[in-house]
Amino acid sequence: MTSTRWLAEYAWLPGEAAPTPDVLIETVHDRITGVTPLTPDGGPDAGVDVLADAVRLPGLTLPGLANAHSHAFHRALRGRTHSGRGDFWSWRDQMYAVAARLDPDSYLALARAVYAEMALSGVTCVGEFHYLHHGPGGSRYADPNAMGAALVEAAAQAGVRLTLLDTCYLTASVDGRPLVGPQQRFGDGDALRWAERLDAFTPDGGHARLGAAIHSVRAVPAEQLATVAGWARRRDAPLHVHLSEQPAENDACRAVHGCTPTRLLADHGVLGRATTAVHATHPTSADVGLLGESRTGVCLCPTTERDLADGIGPVRRMADAGIPLSLGSDSHAVIDLFEEARAVELDERLRTRRRGHFTPAELLAAASTAGHAALGWTDAGRIAVGDRADLVTVRLDSVRTAGVIPAGVWFAASAADVAQVVVDGRVLVRDGRHVRVDVPEELTSAIRGVTDA
Ligand SMILES: [Zn+2]
Repeated sequence: MTSTRWLAEYAWLPGEAAPTPDVLIETVHDRITGVTPLTPDGGPDAGVDVLADAVRLPGLTLPGLANAHSHAFHRALRGRTHSGRGDFWSWRDQMYAVAARLDPDSYLALARAVYAEMALSGVTCVGEFHYLHHGPGGSRYADPNAMGAALVEAAAQAGVRLTLLDTCYLTASVDGRPLVGPQQRFGDGDALRWAERLDAFTPDGGHARLGAAIHSVRAVPAEQLATVAGWARRRDAPLHVHLSEQPAENDACRAVHGCTPTRLLADHGVLGRATTAVHATHPTSADVGLLGESRTGVCLCPTTERDLADGIGPVRRMADAGIPLSLGSDSHAVIDLFEEARAVELDERLRTRRRGHFTPAELLAAASTAGHAALGWTDAGRIAVGDRADLVTVRLDSVRTAGVIPAGVWFAASAADVAQVVVDGRVLVRDGRHVRVDVPEELTSAIRGVTDA
């Protein structure tokens, strides 16, 4: 049983508005067993003998960060789709071209590299919104869950925990047009067959758990929403859904169902504490009320939303309505939860032309505790006794962070400032390098394998 004493120069402890200096964190195997802020009298100088065996963590140590919304294969589009005109819909065509080339082996290689890139940025747990289930034309693999199994294995090899949000994706539009072309790989026929496939799947390894997802109101007919929601409830599993990312989705839903997507989900039992709506960029005031009353979470993906020209959601209003906010890098145009977190505040400033909407502690909660909770890992995301031993240490002496007060990292640091990452008590990133994956090399070869150049 591995027992380690870590001495953090600063650690951000639960409920604190700012980091605490000189904190002794004790871990046994995969759990935190002690958290002791050292008083000036009993600090490192006074207690040098007691602390001689402690591993020093210079900089600011945060709890593990959770990336609550990922489509791993979208990483292959980074730097290829951002220039010129177009919108979400034209970007989606390019995304489908990559999807069409993936098989379980290339999916594993790409996802392993992407999850290792996440580890370098301080992510200890990822929620993979997974809909690329089947072979070309929709043909079943010998194991119908081969693609999901590849993602589970990729996370194991990259050293991060995973919630596989297996996604029900049945139709191409709100009015029920059938899946065509690359979309055929996403479909299970109907929600009952989606549930049957999922019931036959047990993720391999304690690092992974299953959740459910409804791709969107475009992709699951109204009368089948309850089947997916019921599966998640029976399994006590998280349920995620893309919601109102585009005004066009709202318009189509109103035209077909006479209500907003949020109202439709509410009427079919989809909302609730275990549910996370992804984006929620264009909700009505009534929608915000429905999400808040049901304590449905919202996962914000600001770097993707800005890349795709989606818009800015009413984020402070949603938080004030009681909606827990989490963060995701979604299309992976950027993988950097510091960037996602500060965008929550900075976008709100642009919208309102006022400053000071979210405290640094609120941004930390979105990146850690709330994200883990949205993915069903309620014992992670805090530096607290009993929680998982996830520790993310950020340098305070880099060119970006030198001279910054520790609470200021949310406005100064980037993923490149993450020096060390411990997941479940094991060091995964040391001196800014993944201990077993050559991340740039593997990203390069994996992406070359599924793109034209
Ligand atoms: Zn998404």
